[in-house]
Amino acid sequence: MGRATDQLNRPLGVLRLSLTARCNLACPYCLPDGVEPPGLLTLAQRLQLIEAAVALGARSLRLTGGEPLLHSGLEELIAAVQPLRAIHPEGPGLREIALTSNGTLLSAERARSLRGAGLDRITLSLDGTTGASVARMAGVSDGEALLAKVLAAIEHARAAGFDPGRGELKLNAVIQRGANDDQLLPLAELARERGLELRLIEFMDVGNRNGWRPEAVLSAAEMVERIGARWPLEPQGRAGHGTASRWRYRDREPEGGGILAVVASVSAPFCGDCNRLRVTADGIAYTCLFAAPGSGLDLRPWLQPDSAAGKLQGALAELWRERRNRWSEERQEAWQIGTAAGATTAPPHAEMAYLGG
Ligand code: SAM
Ligand code: SF4
Repeated sequence: MGRATDQLNRPLGVLRLSLTARCNLACPYCLPDGVEPPGLLTLAQRLQLIEAAVALGARSLRLTGGEPLLHSGLEELIAAVQPLRAIHPEGPGLREIALTSNGTLLSAERARSLRGAGLDRITLSLDGTTGASVARMAGVSDGEALLAKVLAAIEHARAAGFDPGRGELKLNAVIQRGANDDQLLPLAELARERGLELRLIEFMDVGNRNGWRPEAVLSAAEMVERIGARWPLEPQGRAGHGTASRWRYRDREPEGGGILAVVASVSAPFCGDCNRLRVTADGIAYTCLFAAPGSGLDLRPWLQPDSAAGKLQGALAELWRERRNRWSEERQEAWQIGTAAGATTAPPHAEMAYLGG
């Protein structure tokens, strides 16, 4: 069947697979409802799905949630997909398996078992460097305890062999104007001290519960300007189909925490080369992060024990071929012509903790 390409000539490259919609935190910008959808996919169904996506061109598997470390079958899944790294009959196989986590459950033992199972990369989320900011951004009462856990998780991951110098361990931070933008420099400093790439994410209008308004978005350009005023930065551009624009600290080697990345999905959308397919924990496929709830394709009819592999592949290929989403760019265009329609009359979006970011 070969590599799938959509209506805007974008190839399928990344499968973001959510393993659970549940989370043990309540970040106000995400606000999971804590409800697991019925009909979670089994390990066998997830494998079928990943195999079909790889056959259609996906080279990267990103495991997410909710909080993916709440999923007890995580290591088993990672181990089970290893054979897909081999050359696939229809092209090269899977090149990387990555995980995005809030880090709270990443003990030394769990980090070792994930590495041992064959996980290549971990990105941990941390939105502040003080107990108060962490508590506010994660929706918890004891921010000091959470901060200590995430800082320990970074070291557990490093000790287990995830090398930040090779991009195997990174830090994500969502920055919201008026909520944690005072944490920009402290977060950059924390990442520099620990030799980690920090990825600063603009507050996005995903879901319908996070009270998003344009005024609460701190643009990536402003983040770079503020950090660059303290530590001069040089642009490195945005790699391939990547979401992040990268900047190099002039006083550092790139390998030693010398990279700052910003994800400008609101202020400078990159729909033009978005290559991500998202599948929820219950097997609903979405071709855009900003898709409307209920608009995804339920893959379960093709994920039955007696379903032929080709049928699932065919359904996914058709979904991808029909894809024409460029929601974030359309929002931007609406703003530019002054209607702000993208912000005020946009249809509802599926929730982030369900879609998996
Ligand atoms: N629970 C894990 C975590 O927080 O890393 C994985 C799932 S979370 C939905 C994936 C990523 O989405 C996290 O880095 C999180 O900070 C980010 N995220 C969630 N809601 C967001 C929003 N409204 N705007 C920007 N990023 C958001
Ligand atoms: Fe949980 Fe991640 Fe959402 Fe925070 S961003 S509530 S950690 S799923």
